Amino acid sequence: MTLRNLLNIKYPIIQAGMVWCSGWELAAASANTGILGVIGSGSMYPDILDHHIKKCQSLTKRPFGVNVPLLYPDLDQHVEVILKNNVKIVITSAGNPAQYTQILKSEGVTVLHVVSSTKFALKAEQVGVDAVIAEGFEAGGHNGREETTTLCLIPQVVAAVNIPVVAAGGIGSGKAMHAALSLGASGVQIGSRFVASKESSAHQLFKDLVVDSSEGDTVLTLKELAPVRLVKNDFYKKIEMLYHSKPTKRELYQLLGRGRAKKGMFEGDLINGELEIGQVSSGINEIKSTADIVKELVSEFNETQVKMAKIELPV
Ligand code: NDP
Ligand code: NDP
Repeated sequence: MTLRNLLNIKYPIIQAGMVWCSGWELAAASANTGILGVIGSGSMYPDILDHHIKKCQSLTKRPFGVNVPLLYPDLDQHVEVILKNNVKIVITSAGNPAQYTQILKSEGVTVLHVVSSTKFALKAEQVGVDAVIAEGFEAGGHNGREETTTLCLIPQVVAAVNIPVVAAGGIGSGKAMHAALSLGASGVQIGSRFVASKESSAHQLFKDLVVDSSEGDTVLTLKELAPVRLVKNDFYKKIEMLYHSKPTKRELYQLLGRGRAKKGMFEGDLINGELEIGQVSSGINEIKSTADIVKELVSEFNETQVKMAKIELPV
């Protein structure tokens, strides 16, 4: 089964569900272009999620999904809200897929799970997910400990499982999408490029920072808690300082405090907040509408396809 058939979408592209950045506005705009729009529920209380799903349903007749990061509270209530509103696609991440896959599938929901290794991909396949999203080291936000890059991860996961594999991490252009499909992926999931969209709910200052960022501006850190890729701002410098004293987990949690991600990405505190974004941000130079981003991805993909067809190596 192709990803397009599985998700009933025109283009094999998923707009990643991202905490504080992907509410109803981005999800609906994405769905209306023919890709899969996704609401990031990790930063939402159940009543807020309910509001975002209803708003999205009022703005698009096309399919959209909800991302459920399994490390947040209120999971049972989130699943209840998703089922009550008849959302038919769920993407789980950052946790054990055994927890909700069968409950969701028995209600007719298509389930995808995000993994960072072949081992986790096999585990997800075993519990019955319909597809896996294999996310490499380059990706923003929560990520694997092993630091396997997308280029290495995708072919290995594709070889190991018998379900569609969606590539994620470091993909922000039609060229990168072409490369991912060449590695055997059935489609791509794109996050950072959509943070810098007009419809994303990220704070304007965060969007501007993404557009201005350079190579080397992000780092994967806090592996002892849950590894996360973020911008090396003043808050990260405090983490770095603390690492010099070989901190305990408790000390790291204390420094992280509560609501850092909201402070940074939603409220625009670029100094004290936590700013989750992928390595590909250094290649993003303009805030555009979601429709323009998708148009560009598709035309660049097709141009690359034509170019590549002309390259033939001597035998
Ligand atoms: P709507 O335009 O649908 O308005 C719903 C209500 O939320 C309005 O009363 C509005 O107040 C209020 N609201 C919207 N944004 C904010 C904000 N930043 N701070 C305080 N109040 C806000 O709003 P949305 O659909 O855009 O948002 C609904 C809720 O979801 C809000 O609480 C918002 O903060 C939250 N949200 C969460 C996201 C996440 O990732 N967790 C992403 C986007 C939104 P008024 O009309 O007076 O402005
Ligand atoms: P926090 O746990 O620091 O704080 C919760 C934030 O999520 C608040 O901003 C809160 O909004 C909002 N929120 C939305 N829905 C809920 C809900 N149902 N219950 C409680 N809060 C909700 O959030 P983080 O996103 O930073 O971290 C989430 C989890 O991941 C935590 O367990 C954390 O320890 C762990 N973790 C996070 C890392 C990171 O880099 N962020 C790294 C390692 C681990 P409001 O302020 O409006 O109440």
